[in-house]
Amino acid sequence: MPAELQGLTAYELAERIRGGGVSAREATEAALDRIEEVEDDINAFVTRTPEIALEKAGRIDGRLRNGGLNLWECVPMAVKDVLSTRGVRTTCGSRILEDFEPLYDASALVNFGEDRIMVGKTNCDEFAMGSSNENSAYGPVHNPWDLDGVPGGSSGGSAAAVAAGEGWWALGTDTGGSVRQPAALCGIVGLKPTYGRVSRYGLIAFASSLDQIGPMTRDVRDAALLLQAIAGHDPRDSTSANVEVPDYLAGLEDGVSGLRVGVVTELTQNEGISPGVREATEKAARELAAAGAEVGEVSLPHSEYGLPAYYIIAPAEVSSNLARFDGVRYGHRVPAGGVHEMYRATREEGFGDEVKRRIMLGTYSLSSGYYEAYYAQAQKVRTKIIEDFRAAYARYDVLLTPTAPTVAFGIGTKVDDPLEMYAQDICSVPASLAGVPAISVPGGLSDGLPVGVQLMGDHFTEPTLLRAARALEKATGFHFEARPR
Ligand code: GLN
Repeated sequence: MPAELQGLTAYELAERIRGGGVSAREATEAALDRIEEVEDDINAFVTRTPEIALEKAGRIDGRLRNGGLNLWECVPMAVKDVLSTRGVRTTCGSRILEDFEPLYDASALVNFGEDRIMVGKTNCDEFAMGSSNENSAYGPVHNPWDLDGVPGGSSGGSAAAVAAGEGWWALGTDTGGSVRQPAALCGIVGLKPTYGRVSRYGLIAFASSLDQIGPMTRDVRDAALLLQAIAGHDPRDSTSANVEVPDYLAGLEDGVSGLRVGVVTELTQNEGISPGVREATEKAARELAAAGAEVGEVSLPHSEYGLPAYYIIAPAEVSSNLARFDGVRYGHRVPAGGVHEMYRATREEGFGDEVKRRIMLGTYSLSSGYYEAYYAQAQKVRTKIIEDFRAAYARYDVLLTPTAPTVAFGIGTKVDDPLEMYAQDICSVPASLAGVPAISVPGGLSDGLPVGVQLMGDHFTEPTLLRAARALEKATGFHFEARPR
């Protein structure tokens, strides 16, 4: 890709295209060339859609002359392969959906616009379950900063695609951290919106009470722009919020003077947080203070129970949501004698180990005799965590923590130890359980690898959250550069 285009944020590229400096087609060709150049090393895409991208780019160029084009529509994007795309195979990183072509588009994509320039569908952990992208049936994704390292997960392909400059931005999904953690490990920005802000219609469900679609971008302004494109009420998703969508770019540059920022003690001082990550988080707190924020310490006393509660609640929803993959209605089928044998053989062959583990865990915790001890208990913890956040937001506007406890780890180093893998989510699951918005912003390097710091806001306060994140990225001097160079 020409260095001049590669150096632009999505926002800048869109302005360049609208101003006539470059065509959408040229930008799209540049992205497709870059994909061609680095994909053997990165493996960010399960399916590439160059014909669709070029056709849509042509339409955007045609519409440019008439005006009325939204800024975001000019920019090619990559889409996580758990979002339904009409007529374009959607695998969820699973064998069981290897040849599945949805009959409709996810509402978030429809909101973005009919002429969206989609360059492809990105690799991910199977049904978004994982923190390293190693649970994909389509091979691991390699972190552009270190090709032997994981990109994080489950939106690892989207994160790596952006970090490698295979385009300017991507959509991911976040159930317990899957937008934020890979963003952190790949040195980009990842935003999980408030639960209900973005329609889940057409997002193939993992854990319905937690799933949200979110932007993965080069900087915070791009995240605001992409959220603008996908947010909105949708009657087809009963959990979609009928809350007006504000202008996320207005006020973005207003800074943090007087903003109250609480550093969450339990999630920053936790022994699982690596020293480099803790230092980056503390540095971010100092930078926000220097920029005019009132920074203090805050406790989320039940946050340490977030991880065990999440790993009861999410698998319980999995056991129900994934029952639909039975070889009859969707995707792969293993023919066998008798319908029960067909179900068994199809699911045995179609699902990978982590998905099977979660189905079994979830079925167990929902079963009679265990329900009260596990599922009901986890729901009570969830309520406690919501109350913790409510108390914290009475005193603070945004909360600061690390995004993930470590930087990118080596491919193959944690895959045999599920508990260690689950520990990646310690800082990200509390916001998921409470349904509040959270964003990961690059906070510097540790051992030469990117560290993400997380800011969390109260429900539907994305404008404040984005403003704080924008101030933070300015203070850290964050500057995106595609890798490998
Ligand atoms: N890593 C977490 C999990 O495996 C979160 C995944 C996600 O947010 N989709 O469940």
